[in-house]
Amino acid sequence: MNILVINCGSSSLKYQLIDSESESVLAKGLCERIGIDGRLVYQKTGLDKEITETDMPTHKQAIQLVIEALINDKTGAIKSLEEIDAVGHRVVHGGEKFASSVVLTDEVLKTIEECNDLAPLHNPANLIGINACKELMPNVPMVGVFDTAFHQTMPRKAYLYGLPYEYYEKYAVRRYGFHGTSHSFVSKRCAEYLDMDLKNSKIIVAHLGNGASISAVLNGECVDTSMGLTPLEGLVMGTRSGDIDPAIMEFIAKKENLNIEEMVTVLNKKSGLSGMTKGGSSDFRDLQAEIKAGNQLAADAVEVFCYRVAKYIGSYVAAMNGVDAIAFTAGIGENVALVRRKVCEYLGYLGIAIDEETNLKTFGDEVTLSTPDSKVKVCVIPTNEELAIARETVALVK
Ligand code: ADP
Repeated sequence: MNILVINCGSSSLKYQLIDSESESVLAKGLCERIGIDGRLVYQKTGLDKEITETDMPTHKQAIQLVIEALINDKTGAIKSLEEIDAVGHRVVHGGEKFASSVVLTDEVLKTIEECNDLAPLHNPANLIGINACKELMPNVPMVGVFDTAFHQTMPRKAYLYGLPYEYYEKYAVRRYGFHGTSHSFVSKRCAEYLDMDLKNSKIIVAHLGNGASISAVLNGECVDTSMGLTPLEGLVMGTRSGDIDPAIMEFIAKKENLNIEEMVTVLNKKSGLSGMTKGGSSDFRDLQAEIKAGNQLAADAVEVFCYRVAKYIGSYVAAMNGVDAIAFTAGIGENVALVRRKVCEYLGYLGIAIDEETNLKTFGDEVTLSTPDSKVKVCVIPTNEELAIARETVALVK
């Protein structure tokens, strides 16, 4: 089957056309600046990337352009729209309503809309993408794959906040977790790769990208994860603060004369690695160059980042009363040896040892980093959220 995977944001849309039998990508790209001016990036596998500046007032027009590119006579990946068998949509927040992927019926779409409140920046954009696809491909089955679904197995002790219980009852304020598609994909693949029985395993997945989260996966089910009601909680990220003393909000807001929204924007967009380096780049390639050039703030930011990751891993070892394997994934986890080394150094008490030579040459490959005598396996498992979405989609529409 050919599955079109769509990840729709407020002004951008990423897509991949995946052949589910071979699990190969036939074409991929993105639409940027939707509603502003418009830019289509399209690449058929094996050919050069094509970039077209073109008007894209709405998401519907953006998807129309993607379809035209996909069925283009010369560089298209398929001959006609009929060759798209199903569409898999990434949906950020499924609240407590969705513990797994679902076929997107009108009723389901209404329920997703009810979750908009929990992810006001993301869910409405996801729905716009879904509705645009439905209009353009009315007879093609669509599936929603939720970032939160994998974490719905968390026990109450992991998802309840120490807040008045009425806020949970009235507003569904609890911990949800995100990057679930990646945590699910990587934990399964990790068990497979290490020849472990997933149903009898303790795996910690460190999804370290621009957005970063960690999860504790016990016997194949998520029992805790570092993101909360929103993706702001947990690790120090590219521009997000992660965990802070919540009283800081009032303290800084008063000093800087900011309102609540402005303060939350500071925590989401101006903090993390970027904020810690006074507005510097949050990209580890730049951070490492800055450290080499003697920038102390960059060195501090990286230390704080790694220390936080190590502390979370330690707490998840406690949550599961042990750990069999730790899997690093996403942009930083797959590519930054320095982070993997520093994190693992903190975990020496668990009997963890990694082979630094292997670590240094690992960029985005599936690799075991731990030495044969390490008490816990440590590996790099590249994530592939699009493939995970395509697999979920096939499973539901077949
Ligand atoms: P997201 O999906 O959250 O945008 P990614 O998982 O793509 O993030 O990770 C992006 C981050 O990964 C970059 O900001 C950078 O810090 C890091 N990264 C990606 N590739 C490399 C690389 N080759 N070397 C060093 N860091 C990298």
